[in-house]
Amino acid sequence: EAPRVINFSAGPAKLPESVLEKAQHEMLNYNNTGQSVMELSHRSSDFTKIINAAEKDVRDILNVPSNYKIIFQQGGGTGQFSAVPLNLMGLKEGHCADYIVTGSWSAKAAKEAEKYGKVNVVNPKMDKYTTIPQESTFNLNPEASYVFYCANETIHGVEFQYIPETNGVPLVCDMSSNMMSRPVDISKFGVIFAGAQKNIGCAGVTVVIIREDLLGHAHPKTPITFDYKVQVGNNSLYNTAPTYNIYILGLVLQWVKCQGGVERMEQLSSMKSKSVYDVLDNSNGFYCGTIEPHCRSRMNVPFRVGGPEGDEALEKKFLEEASKRNMISLKGHRSVGGMRASLYNALTVEEAMVLVNFMNEFREQNQ
Ligand code: PMP
Repeated sequence: EAPRVINFSAGPAKLPESVLEKAQHEMLNYNNTGQSVMELSHRSSDFTKIINAAEKDVRDILNVPSNYKIIFQQGGGTGQFSAVPLNLMGLKEGHCADYIVTGSWSAKAAKEAEKYGKVNVVNPKMDKYTTIPQESTFNLNPEASYVFYCANETIHGVEFQYIPETNGVPLVCDMSSNMMSRPVDISKFGVIFAGAQKNIGCAGVTVVIIREDLLGHAHPKTPITFDYKVQVGNNSLYNTAPTYNIYILGLVLQWVKCQGGVERMEQLSSMKSKSVYDVLDNSNGFYCGTIEPHCRSRMNVPFRVGGPEGDEALEKKFLEEASKRNMISLKGHRSVGGMRASLYNALTVEEAMVLVNFMNEFREQNQ
């Protein structure tokens, strides 16, 4: 039987083993119902308990204030690229929105929003996404319906270390790849969303947190499943919710709580990412980080092997040797090349250290 791998994938990503074991244990007979969670009606009392507990746990873990609603949606992060403008573009008459574009995901979000209103990219255009611009460079429109940004660009590995100040304009944040990796002041946001498949569960469910006063402004042609007000009013059950995915999300949330919450997740993610960045910085140029140090992501660490542009043969060898040691998915996104180590919550410090030790050894042998 194959051993469990050390999975550095950017998502779908590793889940805590205890979560998988619990799901396995409960697979055929959930809570003495004689059914699996997949077979439960989404209107049953057992499933109602699952979804309510998941909602409560998101609220507890992230300290979500009572004037915010939490829903579980289908359609992924990409679905939210449409849902956000559909629900919020009409907040103000001008139907325009500000987008801070710092990588592929925020660029995609901006492009999708153009279908529904006027999109203003507020930061200077970048040739490559290797930094987060200073806030003072943003050309924000006080008449915008909302300001959108992506807290962690999964492909490029840049992470915001600050929350943009929007002077009262609702702030919308894609936290798909760093939600629950540190505490956040939810009250600074209008809407936060995150696809679950990186830090908080498996693909198929997206957590959306919405400030109450932003509900009820959806475009009349908004597909009803994407209408925040309808889903809030129906406890995410206007239609059949992704029941099993919500169950797995719930198990991950319980796991986060048991580990010590987002404060602990933050400590661990800083430790893990620092140890990998230290290898890059202490490698005499053998490994090259591609991102400016002040905005390096704790979640996705991109780097080249053999020089700033990477050495093709060495990078191939690096991946092969890593795979012999049971480490997988270290290859960077095809649009940027090189390597990328994703270090989400479920990846343990010990696993990160296996990578660190391997990288040091590989450098000694190949520099
Ligand atoms: N936003 C971010 C930051 C992402 O990393 C991703 C997926 N990798 C998406 C949005 C798109 O999510 P999905 O594939 O669930 O539509």
